[in-house]
Amino acid sequence: MSDKRSIDSGTPEPSPGDDKGTMSVRLGNLPFETEERLGVSLSGSLPCITCGYDLKGISIRSVCPECATTVRATILFRVDPRSEVFRPIFHPEIITVLLFAWAIGALVAAIAVWIPRIEEVAAGGGAMQYARIWSTVAFWAIVASAVGSASFIFPFRSMRPWKIVLAAVGMGGYALIFIGFMGVRRAELGQAAPYSAGALNIDRTLMRLLMMAGVIIVLLGVRPVAREFVKRSLALRTGRVNRQTIFAMVAVALVGMMGDAMRLVAPHVPTAMEAVVSQLGVVCIVISSLLLTLGFASAVVDSWRIGMALVVPTPTLREVLGEE
Ligand SMILES: [Zn+2]
Repeated sequence: MSDKRSIDSGTPEPSPGDDKGTMSVRLGNLPFETEERLGVSLSGSLPCITCGYDLKGISIRSVCPECATTVRATILFRVDPRSEVFRPIFHPEIITVLLFAWAIGALVAAIAVWIPRIEEVAAGGGAMQYARIWSTVAFWAIVASAVGSASFIFPFRSMRPWKIVLAAVGMGGYALIFIGFMGVRRAELGQAAPYSAGALNIDRTLMRLLMMAGVIIVLLGVRPVAREFVKRSLALRTGRVNRQTIFAMVAVALVGMMGDAMRLVAPHVPTAMEAVVSQLGVVCIVISSLLLTLGFASAVVDSWRIGMALVVPTPTLREVLGEE
C-alpha cells in the first residue's frame, strides 16, 4: 500500500456505492499531481459522481457547477489509473456471457440440489420423494457452469502458460462433479431420504465427496485467472465492494467434505459417540451447503460487475485529461 498516497486537501464527498458515507480518497501513481497537470481541464467526457453533470471542459481543481462535488472526487471514483496497463481481452462480450453462465449455473445447481433436501425435511423423513425435475435442472445448470468455465482458459492476450494449464485442470474438475452428481442421483434412487434414513447411504456419501472434490478443483483451478478478472473491475479491486474470495469457498467445501467423512466414520467410533459424530457431520454438511450457495450467489454479483467492467471499461486518465 506504500504506492498509495492520501490527498488531504479538499472535502471528501459522500459517494454512491459507499455506505460508510465518506469516500476514501486515495491515488495510485497518478500523473496529475504535479503543478502543470493541476491546471488541466477535462477534455474527455466524465459524468459527475453525484449528479451526473458532464464535467468536460472543467478544471480538475474545480468543483461540479451543478452540485459542488469536487472534480477530483469524480476522477478518483470513475477513472481507473491502471486500466491502460491491462492486457487486451479477447471478445469481452463472449467472455462476459461465459463468466456469468459459470457463476449463475453454479448458483442454480446449488439451489436445485437444496430443494429435495427441503422437501425431505418438510416430509419428515420416510420414503424419498424423488423430484426428478430438480435433478434435471441441476444437471443442466452444471452443464452451463462447465461451459462457462471456458471463460477462464484463455481470456487475455499473452497469458502465463501455467495459468492456462491450471484453468484447464479446473475445467476438468467438472468431470468429477458430473460423476459425483450422477452417482448421488443413482444412489438415491429407490432409497430412503438420505439425511432422515436410519442407515447411512454410503454410496451416496462417497459420490458426494467426489462431487465436492470436483468443486474444489474447479475453484482452485480458475482462481489465478479469476484474480485477473477482479483487477479489471475498479470497484472490486479497490475493495469498494466486497467480493467473494475463492479460498473461503474452498474452505467451506472442505467443511462439507469433513461432514461426509464424519458420517462415514461414525459407525466405527465407540457406540456412545456414534450419534453425536453422525449428527455433527450432518451439521457440517448443512452449514457448508448453505455457505457455498451464498458464495455462488455473491459470485454471480461479482461476475456481473466484472462483466460490466470488461464490456464498458472504466475511462483511462488519458481519455479524461486528453493527450499531453
Ligand atoms: Zn455534480
